[in-house]
Amino acid sequence: MEKLIVASQNRKKIEELSEILVKHGFDPVPRDDAGIDDFEIVEDGETFEENSFKKANEIMKVSGKVCLGDDSGLMVDYLGGAPGVYSARYAGEDGDAKANNDKLLKALENVPYEDRTAKFVTVITMCFPDGETIVTRGEIKGHIALDYMGEGGFGYDPIFIPEGYDQSFAQLGRAFKNTISHRARALEKLDEELKKRK
Ligand code: IMP
Repeated sequence: MEKLIVASQNRKKIEELSEILVKHGFDPVPRDDAGIDDFEIVEDGETFEENSFKKANEIMKVSGKVCLGDDSGLMVDYLGGAPGVYSARYAGEDGDAKANNDKLLKALENVPYEDRTAKFVTVITMCFPDGETIVTRGEIKGHIALDYMGEGGFGYDPIFIPEGYDQSFAQLGRAFKNTISHRARALEKLDEELKKRK
């Protein structure tokens, strides 16, 4: 097994990633467990690609090991793609999900359901010490609900209804969401890319 450092500190995300990475001979380690916790990576890119590359590349340069970074967010068509890379801090720096959802519902006040189209995006970047880079992108389209629907999930889950369903991500539940989500799709593509390397 080759050690692979994951830029995220989120254990749930790392569990989701592990299944695929282990299959390809990588042993994923969160950056704090790898002792790379003493510098901040500023997420100042204008795209998910820039931010995920920055995370993976900076940690790869410091550690000399294979690294993986990911960046996700919600893009709302009526708002020209906002909140996009600012999804976590849409309503302020503290990343309060309730405040973010309230702000988004307010921004779409009186916008009819058919015009509330949106998509979740995840970009995963893997940087190898020899300069090789793998980038995959997963998306899921849907609508922003007219109000909160359900209480489970995280972030924008209670107000995002994926295409083909009439329940929000929060109502559909984590296990099912994880089979259709933007993250799941980016991971499937990563699996395909890693298969090609062999
Ligand atoms: P991250 O890059 O995965 O940390 O995602 C950035 C922000 O996008 C999160 O703080 C959430 O606000 C939002 N987000 C990303 N993925 C999801 C999701 O699956 N459900 C709800 N919100 C999400």
